[in-house]
Amino acid sequence: MTVVVKVGGAVGNASDGVLDDLAGRPDVVLVHGGSEEIDRLAAALGRPAEHFTSPSGVVSRRCDAGQLEAVVLALAGSVQTRLVAGLGARGVRAVGLSGVDGRLLLARRKTGARAVVDGHVVRLADDLSGTIEQVDAGLLRGLLGLGVVPVVGPPAVTAEGLVVNVDADAVAAAVAAALGAEALLLLTNVPGLLRDPDDPSSVLASVRHAEFDAAVDLARGRMKKKLLAARAALDAGVGRVVIASSRPERPVRRALAGEGTVCS
Ligand code: ADP
Repeated sequence: MTVVVKVGGAVGNASDGVLDDLAGRPDVVLVHGGSEEIDRLAAALGRPAEHFTSPSGVVSRRCDAGQLEAVVLALAGSVQTRLVAGLGARGVRAVGLSGVDGRLLLARRKTGARAVVDGHVVRLADDLSGTIEQVDAGLLRGLLGLGVVPVVGPPAVTAEGLVVNVDADAVAAAVAAALGAEALLLLTNVPGLLRDPDDPSSVLASVRHAEFDAAVDLARGRMKKKLLAARAALDAGVGRVVIASSRPERPVRRALAGEGTVCS
């Protein structure tokens, strides 16, 4: 049973319990984000991170060439290295791959990125973000066959060799779809999709296919992206997607047992 586990990188996530849970589990791919670390590095480079809201209300990281440098340093350089080291310390052979390595995540550069600024829609011509078009499942299966856990994160690369930022939830969905995963766990800093984002006890136990549009309306900002990724994974044949907390002990086991929001 292939399971894809994505651990979030925003403030309030925890990865130790996730790594503990992965030890001894075969056939697992770990996908990661890293927004807290990207923000920290961008600030250290003197280029504070910015976000923008698309006309449809989805919040994304502003990613010009300067910000992309912070993304690469933070994700492929820092977060991924720490996760691989943490798995190694638990006796797990792991290999870190960005989408550029082996052209694991082949993407198309987005040309139509638009932001709402002071009520007006403007085009972001210098945006270096992309949409994943192809995942090299053979590379991941080859590593899994060697007993190695692939640890995968943004950025991705275009056919022409341009490095582009991609959303980590979208990476997780694309990887799960390419592997025909039985489950995709999106572990984050909240216990699931909340009916009221300010009330952690208001977790929705499930979202069925017909309820997705209403669920997307319920979500604000980046949670919308998680739901869109969940729907894309389910549409591509992934068995189930669980949005759950990365913070408790045994978060993988809990999410597989249905704790959180189960999307099917
Ligand atoms: P990660 O780095 O873990 O992927 P994100 O910041 O991208 O985390 O997404 C999780 C965040 O989405 C939560 O911390 C919360 O602030 C926000 N959010 C917005 N609406 C909702 C909602 N309805 N239910 C849960 N979280 C929500």
